[in-house]
Amino acid sequence: MPLEEIIQQATDNGVEKFITIAVEPDNFDRVKELAEAHKNVFYSQGIHPHDAKLSSPEALAIIRKRTSEKKMVAVGEIGLDYHYDNSPRDKQREVFKEQLEIAIDTNKPVIIHSRDADDDTIEILTQYAPKLSRKGVIHSFTSGPGLAKKAIELGFYLGFNGIITFKNADAVRDIVKLCPIDRLLLETDSPFLTPVPHRGKENAPFHLPHILEKVAEIKSLPTNEVEKTCYQNSMNLFNL
Ligand SMILES: [Zn+2]
Repeated sequence: MPLEEIIQQATDNGVEKFITIAVEPDNFDRVKELAEAHKNVFYSQGIHPHDAKLSSPEALAIIRKRTSEKKMVAVGEIGLDYHYDNSPRDKQREVFKEQLEIAIDTNKPVIIHSRDADDDTIEILTQYAPKLSRKGVIHSFTSGPGLAKKAIELGFYLGFNGIITFKNADAVRDIVKLCPIDRLLLETDSPFLTPVPHRGKENAPFHLPHILEKVAEIKSLPTNEVEKTCYQNSMNLFNL
């Protein structure tokens, strides 16, 4: 589907603003151009743990430099992924920390990816969070209650997407229950993780209402209350 159509359909479904996420040096420019070409699209810059092995002083310098640009709203995705281990773990930790330093120096929030790496994520966040003025979000949250509670205690948000609509995701729904509504963010992670009932198709931001409705159902709260609070959470965190 053409991008203009995706944006229009999302707008029709109540999605007003978008953050397109960089994950590797190869798509830094692409997300920046995309955001600059569309009024309500913002972008992040970061080296994903999968691509930590592609990090270089040049790539880190680009991230640092772009933090001064108006539409660059966060450093991310950064973090640890011990599920796929696409980059060596010590390299992942090193690149994660280097990018946390950039966020600290430039007063940007961070978008964190953490998978099967709860203990190391807890250790690193405990060390760096006090210096991070804007904190951040653990996106696509699939970790355990230990990391959830620690992240909330440290001032972070938890991001939830289509996973919470999947049949076998009771553990993630339990985290939605324990996450205070004023610390919860809605995301799609598109083109991945398409929510039920559209699972199997490519994901897009216009599917966000399915995630909103599921959060409201899990937390037994009115949908419009969840919508209002989560929208405000995103505005606050990313200063949109
Ligand atoms: Zn991720």
